[in-house]
Amino acid sequence: MSVADTLAEDMIAGGDPSWLLRETGYELLRESTFETRFALSNGFLGVRGGLASHLGACRAVPPRIYVAGLFDTPTPDSVVPELVPAPDWTQVRILLPDGPLMRCPDRSSRALTLDMRRGALFMEARQTCNAPLDVCLRSLRLVSLHARAIGMQVIELRIESGVSDLTFEAAFGPTDFELAPERAELDLKAWRTWRSGRSLAIAAAASLEVDGIERQPVMRGDLTWNWSWTAQPGQIVTFRRIIAVTRHHATDVHAGARARKELAAARTLGWRGILARHEAAWAERWRCSDIRVTGDDAAQAALRFAIYHLNGAANPEDPHVSVAARALTGDDYRGHVFWDTEIFLVPFYALTWPEAARTLLMYRFRTLDAARAKAAQMGCRGALYAWESADSGSEVTPAQTVGPDRKILDVLCGSQEQHISADVAYAVWQYWQATEDEAFLQEAGAEIILETARFWTWRAAPEADGRRHIRTVIGPDEYHEGVDDNAFTNGMARWTIARGLDVAALVQARWPETWARLARSLDLGEAELAHWREAAEAIATGFDPATGLFEQFAGFSALETVDLNAYAGRSVPMDVVLGRERTQRAQVIKQADVVALLALLPEAFPGASGGTNFDHYEPRCGHGSSLSRAMHGLAAARLGRAEAALSYFRRSAAIDLADTHVAIGGGIHVAALGGVWMIAILGFAGLSLRADGLAFDPCLPADWQSLDFRIRWRGRDLAVAIDGTTRVLRVALDRGAPMTVFAGGAAFVIAMDRPLTVKGVGG
Ligand code: BGC
Repeated sequence: MSVADTLAEDMIAGGDPSWLLRETGYELLRESTFETRFALSNGFLGVRGGLASHLGACRAVPPRIYVAGLFDTPTPDSVVPELVPAPDWTQVRILLPDGPLMRCPDRSSRALTLDMRRGALFMEARQTCNAPLDVCLRSLRLVSLHARAIGMQVIELRIESGVSDLTFEAAFGPTDFELAPERAELDLKAWRTWRSGRSLAIAAAASLEVDGIERQPVMRGDLTWNWSWTAQPGQIVTFRRIIAVTRHHATDVHAGARARKELAAARTLGWRGILARHEAAWAERWRCSDIRVTGDDAAQAALRFAIYHLNGAANPEDPHVSVAARALTGDDYRGHVFWDTEIFLVPFYALTWPEAARTLLMYRFRTLDAARAKAAQMGCRGALYAWESADSGSEVTPAQTVGPDRKILDVLCGSQEQHISADVAYAVWQYWQATEDEAFLQEAGAEIILETARFWTWRAAPEADGRRHIRTVIGPDEYHEGVDDNAFTNGMARWTIARGLDVAALVQARWPETWARLARSLDLGEAELAHWREAAEAIATGFDPATGLFEQFAGFSALETVDLNAYAGRSVPMDVVLGRERTQRAQVIKQADVVALLALLPEAFPGASGGTNFDHYEPRCGHGSSLSRAMHGLAAARLGRAEAALSYFRRSAAIDLADTHVAIGGGIHVAALGGVWMIAILGFAGLSLRADGLAFDPCLPADWQSLDFRIRWRGRDLAVAIDGTTRVLRVALDRGAPMTVFAGGAAFVIAMDRPLTVKGVGG
């Protein structure tokens, strides 16, 4: 058997440790944490990792497998769809005559290694304690970034001593409870969701070799294989399984044909070929998105982990789905999409992977009709996006939940957390600024911004005081419900209307035919635009020029003040500590709210009021959401407070990387990971998008000797290097036409043969 065909030692553990996430040993109680952290995803298929999940015999619950967009309601009377777990295609059982192999594995020998550079999960385990066989087991698992339908698994068993009959079974985990079987053949199975009319097809091929010679299965069923032979010392047993998964609408008569086609293409490549293309696809993603930090290994590791999961979360090929709050790595939040995507993820994608950003925004375009319907239901024109969105874009926020005190609570976010409609517009504008994707703006982006601007004009009703007010909302701080004039919501609404006017002027000037089409289809004329102009000016901001403070909402400053320092050692959120009612009556904030406005729209804060607001609101925030620290970190970095920002950076990263913060069994906190990227690039590097170029205003933490990264901007590739020691910024244009870069208070034109070096930045 040639070395090229085996999972050689160096293939598993070798390489630069800064790319590896490693865990050894095995504790059942912490297994779900590892399953989340070591999850694999390509934006279409998600597979949770875990030490035991490679060994069916050691596990009661199979690892969750997800297929993006495979939603169904759990019961006929439920209106809240959930992502349905797909059949577990990783299942194997290795059996000795008297029971499973690996019954007494040497726990300390178990090692799980996520190679983030290659998007591959490796596992090793040994059994040396029980007769009749001593074995060493290694496995490799991936979901292909090159062909997203494809998953692959290689398991290698080295028989070190002993002789015994051995059976190797490969099957697919049970799903009949969640999915109705529709078709079953030897190499293909199809299922249908019970209620939502989706179907899922999986085609698979599996093989087993002993010492390089393929064995025929002794038993073969629908997607199941069974091999038996007598294991001898020195044997190398290699099991390989390739699967192809497709999701269809149930009416699609070809369910299965595409899965077979994808499988055939993958089999032609062979496992090495599949691995090579997958690695090349990851290499390209890392080429565009890696960040290198010197002087702070923990920050480097945090960034690699964040970027790994961010690159795995999106799929530029499927506008029917968006990234869920836990991506494809866990059950929490049922696969629903929140503002997390537009505010915390789109900045990363827009600047490193614009194709993915575009597709995520096309999902919002595809669900625009549902947003129009939601606005109409409340008597408004325009578009109000769902606070929680699944596949259709209808509102899917559950109406009730169980509160921390185990009482049933009404959830009002679905009707009141409306800032989502401004957040989507914000992301569209960020994408436009980053890419100048004219086709997107004309086809989709302009309409989203115009319809959300229209919504806010209707929603902000003029009142007797001559101002427009937005009443009965929930801001990012969800501890306070039914509030009036939430500063974040109102600020973002004003901004959206202003962008609506900008977009109207831009489209009218550049593409009169597109404007004619949009004006006709949206019934949008000059009179209405004039109305928008007045509305944007008249919306109450809550800003008090005397104090320089935005009031978080009308009446917030009259609420009880609570010294959060007194609760510094708590392990539960503040609403649990104080109880729901008291929290609602107190100046205790769930997450960045005015601070989020500062992070997103710093220009809305006149003079030094950014710092004033940060200092006022930071001590009032209990960080009861995983999103909160990222916003604080970004705002702090922009205020030039690098060390405070670094502390927020570390605590955001720790949510998924340390076992000390929150339970992560329900999936990674992808928004917090996007926030880690935002603090580094938009915060420490001080990158901001301008209409006429890119601006940098670096402010590195003292320990960061250097920060290097690449970004894409309007069809160009840029390499950015910031030296924290010498305070030098270098920007090189590797591809694309000359452009303007703003740094150190001046504007520079850079070209491919004219890189920029600016000294004295970042002080
Ligand atoms: C946060 C929201 C967030 C959601 C999903 C909630 O706890 O308050 O801001 O969108 O989680 O991450």
